Amino acid sequence: MWSLVIKHVIYSPKETAYRTIKSIAPRVRFAPSPTGYLHLGGLRTALYNYLFAKSENGTFILRIEDTDQSRKVEGSVLALIRDLEWAGVECKEGPNVGGKYGPYVQSERLPIYQDHITKLLDNGSAYRCFCTERRLNILRRDAIKAQRVPKYDNRCRFLSDQDIKDKIKAGTPYCVRFKLTSDCMSFEDLIYGGIAYDVSLNEGDPVLMKSDGYPTYHFANVVDDHLMKITHVLRGVEWQISTTKHLLIYNAFGWEPPQFGHLPLIVNSDGTKLSKRQNDVKVEEYRNKGILPLALVNYITLAGGGFDHVPGEGVRLKTMDDLADEFQIDKISSNPSRLNPDLLEECNRLEIKRQLKNPELSVQLVRKLQSLILETYPDQKFNVTEDHVKTVLNWAVSRISRLEELVTNKFGFLWILPTNEDIELDKELLHKLINNLQRLETFDETSIKDNLKLFSKENNVKFPELMKMLRAVLSGLNEGPGVAEMMHLLGKDQALTRIKSVAR
Ligand code: GLU
Repeated sequence: MWSLVIKHVIYSPKETAYRTIKSIAPRVRFAPSPTGYLHLGGLRTALYNYLFAKSENGTFILRIEDTDQSRKVEGSVLALIRDLEWAGVECKEGPNVGGKYGPYVQSERLPIYQDHITKLLDNGSAYRCFCTERRLNILRRDAIKAQRVPKYDNRCRFLSDQDIKDKIKAGTPYCVRFKLTSDCMSFEDLIYGGIAYDVSLNEGDPVLMKSDGYPTYHFANVVDDHLMKITHVLRGVEWQISTTKHLLIYNAFGWEPPQFGHLPLIVNSDGTKLSKRQNDVKVEEYRNKGILPLALVNYITLAGGGFDHVPGEGVRLKTMDDLADEFQIDKISSNPSRLNPDLLEECNRLEIKRQLKNPELSVQLVRKLQSLILETYPDQKFNVTEDHVKTVLNWAVSRISRLEELVTNKFGFLWILPTNEDIELDKELLHKLINNLQRLETFDETSIKDNLKLFSKENNVKFPELMKMLRAVLSGLNEGPGVAEMMHLLGKDQALTRIKSVAR
């Protein structure tokens, strides 16, 4: 179906549509339907609207489009707001914060749509359609059989006034349809350039108001964008095909439309489509797996463009303020946005580093790690004081990209006594070593290392063998960080406690 439709869309080279953006402060919106969780694509749309508003001193609005009540998922509005807040995308107007153009939930605006549908009925741009579901199904079935594009045949457009009156009197249910004209509407897409399309080629007159009194997406979307004084609509490219239809509705009201820009599809690094079933497409999933908000935000912008690209520049983590300062709508690419998961890890590592340098944020990071340690090792015996955890974090930051890695086997030695029953131990030697280490005054990496070298010589053990044994004693692992490095990290007390616990 899509391929049929797309054939009639005419693209013309991108002109500098941005230059035509008016100089007033923009009002933009993110208008999700509460049908489930916030996915990466939704966050991208919200984020780009937010950055655009922030970069131009404008207003970012959240509007809930819940006119399809059958698809509504309980709790999803709250989850959506929580995910946006987590990501640092702040709404200036919306159901959670109010504002002078509310209500911001479409199901609370039904009288407004009623009022506006009357205007279109009165000026002859819309009409009541009494066709039954059964008739529409037959039309659809026949068209498919004949390999035609299934579309409504606009029959009720031609009902007489008397017919209409009679049917209303008889209580026949009806919807309201828009009279499509065969104008080829065109607009300058802020991202794709010129778009022109004649909606009536592939569609019958679209429904604006359903028989249950709810508006359709197209109608409510146009009415609300106008009443909420939206200046720019940035949304996913899947809506591009609808924009010319929206323009016809704007015309019917005699309203000036906002400017439109459509964001390309987000795809995997190999160009394949992201599937909603893929778990990590959910913002919540990223959060649960230890991705920090600013890392996710940077990851999205790395795929989506909108910034000057400095060739050869590695990943530079930008704060929300940096992103807003550097954002340029005409730098958004119209090619599909390819995600590169390696960059997500890199962004997260950089974000951990950034947070560690900030006194307030580092306290939160330490608390998070402390609770992860306690959850993972409820019987832990070791030091999880703020100072120690921070030391470990500073050491670990070049080796990990998520805090969660620090409570996996590889780094478990930092928090628990290793279980290493199967290592061969020379207990006498270990006792000697305990005495030796106890006397060591400076417990830094170099002095520990020098001391161990000397100890191996004095006791006639090969240095690599001593190291192998000590590594197993300290971490229960065959490989990992250097022994002196580990001892330094654990601190004298902990290092000795471990050696003592196996030398008994
Ligand atoms: N409710 C639509 C959605 O779920 C909004 C599309 C638009 O931004 O116009 O994506």
